[in-house]
Amino acid sequence: MENVIIIGSGPAGYTAAIYAARANLKPLMFEGLTPGGQLMITSDVENYPGFDKAITGPELMDVMRKQAERFETRFITKNVTKVDFSKRPFKIWCDEEMYEAQTVIVTTGASAKWTDVTGEKRLMGKGVSACATCDGAFFKNMDVVVVGGGDTAMEESSFLTRFAKQVYLVHRRDEFRASKIMQNRVLNNPKIKVLFDTVVDEIVGEKGVTGVKLNNLKTKEKSDLKCEGYFVAIGHKPNTDIFADFLDLNETGYIVTEPGSTRTNVEGVFAAGDVQDHVYRQAVTAAGTGCMAALEAERFLEAHGAH
Ligand code: NDP
Repeated sequence: MENVIIIGSGPAGYTAAIYAARANLKPLMFEGLTPGGQLMITSDVENYPGFDKAITGPELMDVMRKQAERFETRFITKNVTKVDFSKRPFKIWCDEEMYEAQTVIVTTGASAKWTDVTGEKRLMGKGVSACATCDGAFFKNMDVVVVGGGDTAMEESSFLTRFAKQVYLVHRRDEFRASKIMQNRVLNNPKIKVLFDTVVDEIVGEKGVTGVKLNNLKTKEKSDLKCEGYFVAIGHKPNTDIFADFLDLNETGYIVTEPGSTRTNVEGVFAAGDVQDHVYRQAVTAAGTGCMAALEAERFLEAHGAH
């Protein structure tokens, strides 16, 4: 019987592990087959406090993991395939193996949706990004393309005008899905050029992005556009499928937590990081809620005389 099982290994999971381990709860973490979360596909991280020189996403995740390990967090490098949160102790399966826990902290994160065009995978981190807040500053005085038509795309293209010389916002339809106020901000910004009814067929470049091949769906006209950055802003998908039978999710699939807390609708199950946050989505906010979840799990165990 485990005191606390942590499912997921981004900044939220590692921080929860550090706090739970230092509280002597001997946490067990299922870190997944590809540990580390979304920061594993970013390049330099310049906005995580505590590092005066840039650190790469994978390096940051490596030191967080080592810190959790130092206080004797145990890791299982497997994906959780099924859970049963209907009663305590909670049950967690990795295929046939079953584990039991008094409390669970869910930190499975969210995954950026990608456009899956030729060149996207190959140039990821070399001009291709799904996070303007993380990578925008690397594109000072350069031309960048943003793909999408929702609020995220509006926000990311507006943000990128702080750095980029020109932002091209490529949207597949002739109207945006985004709220009017955010659309207007984009349409009135002289540094953003909107290309409606257009899709990107290919991202071009050898060592880094040098341009995109565009396709106008209405006129069937094909053209080349030079740019150094390609930002995908078509939304995120929270990794919550295996929890859907037990945890309350909002209409876009994020776990609902009580305001100001990481408590879910199931007593003893907590959720932290991007899996319950579609607004901030930063490593530091994920780490903050990971800390909250561990403190709340510890208090829960104490209150139930389980530790
Ligand atoms: P949305 O689902 O709202 O929008 C996704 C956009 O990407 C759509 O315009 C869609 O096009 C386009 N798209 C989807 N797939 C593809 C594809 N394969 N190729 C090209 N384009 C594609 O996601 P968002 O992330 O923008 O927003 C998610 C939620 O978060 C929303 O509720 C939003 O309001 C909220 N949000 C709020 C913010 C704020 O208030 N500050 C900031 C960011 C998000 P199409 O329209 O044709 O379907």
